[in-house]
Amino acid sequence: MAEHTRVLIVGSGPAGLTAAIYSARAQLRPIVIEGEPSSTTDQPGGQLMLTTDVENFPGFPEAISGPDLMVKMRDQAARFGADLRVEKVHKLDTTTRPFRAWLGGDVEPSITADAVILATGARSLMLNVPGEERYLSHGLSTCATCDGFFFRGQDIAVIGGGDSALEEALFLTRFASSVTVIHRRDSLRASKIMQERAFAHEKIRFEWNTQVTEIIGDDNVVGIKVRGTISEEERVLLVTGVFVAIGHVPNTTLVTDQVDLEHNGYVRTTMGSFTNIDGLFAAGDVQDDVYRQAVTSAGSGCIAAIDAERWLEAQGI
Ligand code: NAP
Repeated sequence: MAEHTRVLIVGSGPAGLTAAIYSARAQLRPIVIEGEPSSTTDQPGGQLMLTTDVENFPGFPEAISGPDLMVKMRDQAARFGADLRVEKVHKLDTTTRPFRAWLGGDVEPSITADAVILATGARSLMLNVPGEERYLSHGLSTCATCDGFFFRGQDIAVIGGGDSALEEALFLTRFASSVTVIHRRDSLRASKIMQERAFAHEKIRFEWNTQVTEIIGDDNVVGIKVRGTISEEERVLLVTGVFVAIGHVPNTTLVTDQVDLEHNGYVRTTMGSFTNIDGLFAAGDVQDDVYRQAVTSAGSGCIAAIDAERWLEAQGI
């Protein structure tokens, strides 16, 4: 027999845990399925578990590590009675009411829910080259806004040729001595205006037709091995920071074919956190391809919890 909850929250990054804090304080006793520790894409705590110091989350003037921040959010949700579970939803059915969720390898649905807040986040696309996993948070980052400040006075490489790569490169010029954009082709995918800004910047230079083959270092990054995509020449570029900016993908597997998505695969939300399915709300990076910050994600988790609470009340559930 499936267990029933009024609010099921899937995901435990800033969006999921903030939704949990608000739902729990509204006496909805939410169940939060946090994700699996072994996974690099849906681990409990989300992407902040992969970062070092967070210096831009309000309330922590001395900075706080990403994992510590998530522990605090989790403790706060638990304190108000959120039922947090380190498990994974492997199937979600929003075509029936109440919604049904399957955990782990269960054959029968484990949980039924009147409302679901989807906060499964997004993940950065990675290069999948040797050294990348080893140096993540040790000189290699996927977020200039989060980590750029740590690279003051250093030589940095940004990988990618889209708007994200140029936005990261331009942002990093505030801190870095030099920023080298490494792109696998000889023309950029980024918008013209971003290209013009990047080309005009004295600290930014480009390595065209170049692919990264390895991240190298000691305790931290000291350089990258690159190969020409046309010349096939191999070289080492000495940089102490590497920012991978080759795109993100939202974690929407659970709802693909059920909910309306934007053209780029993000969940479409309107009026806050409402999706096209009554009772299904979305918060955080799974529906945000623009801001992608811990604080905006937390804010959208708050919105989703309030939307869900009011929706339940309006339904008389
Ligand atoms: P994107 O437009 O898909 O660009 C990804 C870039 O990474 C491409 O240049 C691609 O090369 C390169 N790339 C992909 N896989 C690679 C690999 N394995 N090795 C090396 N290079 C690889 O992604 P995005 O830049 O994140 O932008 C996503 C969307 O958000 C776009 O619509 C963008 O306009 C928008 N966005 C807008 C802004 C803004 O307006 N300020 C800022 C950020 C993002 P190829 O070009 O060869 O495919």
